[in-house]
Amino acid sequence: MQAAPNRMIAMTTPVLAYYDMRMLGHNPHGWDPSHPAWTDAVKAMIALQYPGSNLETYSHPERPDRLTAIVDRLMLDPIDGVRWMLPTAASRAQLERVHDKTYVAHIESLEGESCWLAQDTTAVSPGSVEAARLAAGAGISAVEAISAGEARRAFCIVRPPGHHAHSDHASGFCLYNNLAVTAAHARESLGYQRVMIWDWDMHHGNGTQEIFYSDPSVLVVDSHCAAPFYPGSGLLLETGAGAGVGSQINVPLPLGSGNAALLKVFDEVVKPAAKAFQPDILLVSSGFDCHYLDMVCAMDETGFAILAQRMSDLADELCEGRLVVLLEGGYNAQALADSAHAVVKVLAGNPVTACNIMPDDPGCRAVADAAQFHQELNIQRARGILKIEPSR
Ligand SMILES: [Zn+2]
Repeated sequence: MQAAPNRMIAMTTPVLAYYDMRMLGHNPHGWDPSHPAWTDAVKAMIALQYPGSNLETYSHPERPDRLTAIVDRLMLDPIDGVRWMLPTAASRAQLERVHDKTYVAHIESLEGESCWLAQDTTAVSPGSVEAARLAAGAGISAVEAISAGEARRAFCIVRPPGHHAHSDHASGFCLYNNLAVTAAHARESLGYQRVMIWDWDMHHGNGTQEIFYSDPSVLVVDSHCAAPFYPGSGLLLETGAGAGVGSQINVPLPLGSGNAALLKVFDEVVKPAAKAFQPDILLVSSGFDCHYLDMVCAMDETGFAILAQRMSDLADELCEGRLVVLLEGGYNAQALADSAHAVVKVLAGNPVTACNIMPDDPGCRAVADAAQFHQELNIQRARGILKIEPSR
């Protein structure tokens, strides 16, 4: 008599974890009153955005210990199936798929320099350009390895983040748009016809939206705190343009949204959109700043774990399991470590055991409204009132 299979025993799945300590070299820290970049305008900008901060000891919030918190946790509490990988830096040609040549040339010219790039405290230090190339290259390395059959899932521990970087300018701590560079490589070099992105960072991925706004081959779902929260974009009505009408799906959320709201985003927006679009690969812009320890939302690591579980299951169903999760924001070291560890654990095949759901999650109503809005748009497109995005 054969024993029944024990469903409680997890089947380990290989996960490629991309990290390079040279990304710690991006470190626009401290206040150097003698440096010409630290003008009165910069001083005023920091005082405005970080009231109460001490400019003598000012430390940029997008700082190296964001990554070391994650890596230390994964090292101290190792997960079976994780394979550490070094990324290859993105080439100019790979960056220029989504960024203007003049912009790439400008960023590259800043190697070894310290300066400020944008009015929202985006800055570079001498090691920033190399870090940015590696951050953009990590996603490329991941999709290359997945395409070669080395694994089905990857987690990229990268900085500077990318989703606020536009085709022609830096913003929101972002230099190159890492996930956009990854999606473009999957499309143009690896032959994937349709790429789907879910950006679950707390902030709207305005750069990613701008880059793919007219591109029907890249479907972007973006859940984020609603305007006027930074960067102030991501309205429901921003749904794409030209051939890309319908390829941008924004889900603006109220402050305080938690696990239940984000699960609802998956169930009512991401999953139906994916089934209609039939992607060849799923990519996640994974900020962890919706964690309650971070800023103004109420998720916790159990929520991020179940989102990763749902995305893994969706990838298994639609695209042979191909899934790349790439770090965006998140500024609390504990939240970053706990959330990243929980996500990688799920990607490695460990099932989620529980998800904390708070009563009366304020985001659920907004998600229901957004889902209805996008469903009605789809009905209008199906009737020929609006252009329909191509599908196979
Ligand atoms: Zn963010």
